[in-house]
Amino acid sequence: MVQAGSREGRARLCVLGHPVSHSRSPAMHTAALRALGMEGTWSYEAIDVAPEELASRVRALPGEGFRGANVTIPHKQAALALAVEASSRALQIGAANTLSFETEGIRADNTDAEGLLGALGEPVAGRHALVLGAGGAARACVWALVEGGGHVAVWNRTADRARALCEELGGEPVEGTQIDTAAYDLIVNTTAIGMDGTEQAIKALPLDADEMNAPQVVVDLAYRPNTDTPLINAAKARGARTIDGLEVLVHQGAASLRLWTGVEPPLDAMRRGARGS
Ligand code: NAP
Repeated sequence: MVQAGSREGRARLCVLGHPVSHSRSPAMHTAALRALGMEGTWSYEAIDVAPEELASRVRALPGEGFRGANVTIPHKQAALALAVEASSRALQIGAANTLSFETEGIRADNTDAEGLLGALGEPVAGRHALVLGAGGAARACVWALVEGGGHVAVWNRTADRARALCEELGGEPVEGTQIDTAAYDLIVNTTAIGMDGTEQAIKALPLDADEMNAPQVVVDLAYRPNTDTPLINAAKARGARTIDGLEVLVHQGAASLRLWTGVEPPLDAMRRGARGS
């Protein structure tokens, strides 16, 4: 276990993003540290950093008592480039969401893949998955599902990006405005659709919500603090098993906390912190 004890007396952790005020990570990690009795020795905060300031800000963090940082939109690729050492999963995904400040320098990792698999809580080997999106979150999800032995199809608004992602990470690109979702037992939305919460937003996805049924599993990485996204609402209404973005956030955050502290994270406290309940 990493011992706390910065110059200020507390080992500091943070999430770096731009914007970052919406992030649930500070509440989630603070709840975890409190539940672990570590609140007096560790702390977690949000820091808004513009892209052009990321490198200098990150390099200054260890001197300010920071032991680690989560990294969110739009810094995940740039964060990987700042590290002296990176895990093989971060290198393959091509992005970092977790930085650790060690004596040897900055170490990068990616716990987004673990977040998806942890939230699913069941093996993906042999499952037929449809991933919607081809951005950074999609890369982590496709990597996780392919590594886990799943059959993965990838749809994206910009079809070229789905093709390029599949060439690099595996999976089959699919195109069209109406995909036959009955062919998949797992649907993972990694597009930003759903953050705004309007029922209209779901129409940008190539799905007929009425086709989603039990025993399908529908995961929406997008999340809203106090209410379900339109995709989760539609999937629930049709009896599919649903996993929302906050549950994925909890599992990726837990994996980051484990890396920094060596301590087993308290998932229920993190869920309550993330959901503000
Ligand atoms: P990103 O790299 O910017 O990718 C955005 C993706 O959304 C692209 O595939 C983009 O398609 C698609 N998209 C954006 N607007 C769209 C629209 N109007 N219609 C259809 N597709 C649209 O972002 P990211 O890092 O992958 O993050 C994506 C989402 O996942 C965000 O909402 C983020 O908050 C969420 N996320 C959640 C977690 C979690 O733990 N719950 C973790 C990571 C990310 P094009 O390629 O065509 O532009």
